[in-house]
Amino acid sequence: MICKKFILLLLSILLCINMPACASDKPNTDNIHHSSQQDPEDQNPGENQNPGENQNPGENQNPEEKTEPGVFNLEKGTVMLNSGYEMPVLGIGCYLLSNSQAENSVYWALRDGYRLIDTARIYGNEEGVGKGIKKAIDEGIVKREDIFVTTKMWTSDFGNGDAAIEASLKRLNLDYIDLMILHHSQPSNDVQAYQAMERAVKKGTLKSIGLSNYYEPDDFDRVVTATTIRPSILQNETHPYHQSTVMKNHIAQYYTVLESWFPLGGRGNTQTLFNDTTISSIAKAHNKTSAQIILRWHLQAGNIAIPGSSNESHIKENSEIFDFELTAEEMQQLTSIDKKQRFADY
Ligand code: NAD
Repeated sequence: MICKKFILLLLSILLCINMPACASDKPNTDNIHHSSQQDPEDQNPGENQNPGENQNPGENQNPEEKTEPGVFNLEKGTVMLNSGYEMPVLGIGCYLLSNSQAENSVYWALRDGYRLIDTARIYGNEEGVGKGIKKAIDEGIVKREDIFVTTKMWTSDFGNGDAAIEASLKRLNLDYIDLMILHHSQPSNDVQAYQAMERAVKKGTLKSIGLSNYYEPDDFDRVVTATTIRPSILQNETHPYHQSTVMKNHIAQYYTVLESWFPLGGRGNTQTLFNDTTISSIAKAHNKTSAQIILRWHLQAGNIAIPGSSNESHIKENSEIFDFELTAEEMQQLTSIDKKQRFADY
């Protein structure tokens, strides 16, 4: 009898040793740790976010490098986007440049320290832009990961967005594009085009996405509510005579950053701004040109600026805006010359 009891006791002890729940009171968390730990080095910024949720942008960054999304760092010359990627705040614009002009302008700009390039399918110069980038990379001026390339999907491609993205990649001769934006609002199918860009973000061929030429809060929200990834950028005509205050305040809730096209007023209008007495007197006080004052105003106001030029010395001049600062009073004076007046009619 005693022998039988002893054997039963021995058996239950042996069973218990083989069952983890018996062996310890602690839950086995090995799998949980393994599946949730990621090496931050391996991960593309933004790729582990669920863009459909109201995430706090930038929260997947290394806490030591944490930067508030939407806040400009003029020491570094960058702004953190809501996608988790850092974007340079001054770039070279390529509107109205031929392929060979774009190649030169992009190359000169990269050599002068610019790290942002803005082109579009409709400019017809993506190949030239790609060549300028390649030349700068081949000469060791920059690495691909140091630069930020933006292009835009034209409205006639909105019904065939996936193919349009592939075609831009091919023309630019790049594996990925840092930012693609829809060139214009087009309610009939811009959501469809935006969804193609969202698919490309999942694939990794686009890093950030955004919108251009949305001038009414409701029009912007129409796309936001029908899609999952918040636009990182809104690129609209913006300069001292059209400061885009309403849209800028509206998009701030999404941590979307305003990017200024026609930052100097655009071809044919620049002299109007350069000769404005407020702008030219501030320029005189700083021993800078009116163009430099306007560009510095954009950056201090929190607008990304992409002045366009095919002129080597203008490109250099436009880059020399990080060695001075406008005072609060000068910023106020420049704010007060807003006429809410667009130069373009599209
Ligand atoms: P801009 O305001 O940059 O002005 C360009 C004009 O200014 C050119 O005539 C250029 O020669 C002149 N200029 C440049 N630097 C100068 C300097 N330091 N001194 C004197 N003149 C100078 O206008 P933009 O180039 O049309 O716009 C900037 C960029 O924005 C474009 O190149 C393009 O990439 C983008 N863009 C986008 C849209 C859009 O619909 N999303 C529309 C227009 C432009």
